[in-house]
Amino acid sequence: ERLVGSVADGEDQAVEAALRPKDLDEFIGQEKVREQLDLVLRAARARGATADHVLLSGAPGLGKTTLSMIIAAEMEAPIRITSGPAIQHAGDLAAILSSLQEGEVLFLDEIHRMSRPAEEMLYMAMEDFRVDVIVGKGLGATAIPLELPPFTLVGATVRAGLLPPPLRDRFGFTAHMEFYEPTELERVIHRSARLLEVETTPEGVAEIAGRSRGTPRIANRLLRRVRDYAQVRADGVVTREIATAALAVYEVDGRGLDRLDRAVLEALIKLFGGGPVGLSTLAVAVGEERETVAEVAEPFLVREGLLARTLRGRIATPAAWEHFGLVPPGR
Ligand code: ADP
Repeated sequence: ERLVGSVADGEDQAVEAALRPKDLDEFIGQEKVREQLDLVLRAARARGATADHVLLSGAPGLGKTTLSMIIAAEMEAPIRITSGPAIQHAGDLAAILSSLQEGEVLFLDEIHRMSRPAEEMLYMAMEDFRVDVIVGKGLGATAIPLELPPFTLVGATVRAGLLPPPLRDRFGFTAHMEFYEPTELERVIHRSARLLEVETTPEGVAEIAGRSRGTPRIANRLLRRVRDYAQVRADGVVTREIATAALAVYEVDGRGLDRLDRAVLEALIKLFGGGPVGLSTLAVAVGEERETVAEVAEPFLVREGLLARTLRGRIATPAAWEHFGLVPPGR
């Protein structure tokens, strides 16, 4: 629900299909990942083989689903999309695996959230293209081996470290997706604006990019909100002034911090002299749950170097004071 949240909401899902790059050349940034993936896919194609299993790690909204679709397109293969939480029982996975076509790409989002029995079935499927389907219960249960056509598993997860090593080891290729640089986000926004037929100026695009938290999904979402504002309150052109005014309405500041982010930092600075202060106390001060502060607000603040988690509690860094135009203590 946050405008700067990185998980897709309903509107994102509806428009993202139209904004997805269709091949590796169109995919912006992530140079290393693109180069490595290009080699893996070209070599597989030259051998007439199915591509190795690929693990993509990185935060939501960085392009993992998009890349999996590109892998399928580059291999001229169909793709099936599912997720770890959707696979509760090994039988759910067996049903998917046994219906795959030869060479098909299976995209498994949030692969770390699969159930344990399904995970064990996946080991064998990835390695030997075989599953044992258990028929019957208790003493009468028997395992019926089932051959699978070769397929390419593309697994996605926030961090590769969340996967048990035996699963991680079965991927031929692991790619780590980084947050995007502002100039890369400018290219993402420029491209999306063209597809959505929104007129922009370079300064308007740069203003949105700087507030997008390194994440293409957020960049595309902010662009849509700025476009709305430009249509209703101006002549439709996304300039720096329009972007700034629109995002002021949504309380997303020049660095991509929203109201919650700023409330956390301001409480730290104004109520606790910059800390250190415990998480519970900080959460009470901003009127939020501990989890909301720790899991929703803090990761980005830590990444931006505005907040530090220390053994004695949370502290606001000098950069945080400066963000509010304040002089850090001791300066
Ligand atoms: P994830 O699966 O990692 O959550 P997605 O692949 O769904 O992320 O990407 C979210 C949105 O961001 C999509 O609309 C996609 O078009 C856009 N996007 C992601 N990465 C790129 C990129 N490198 N170039 C252009 N657009 C991108």
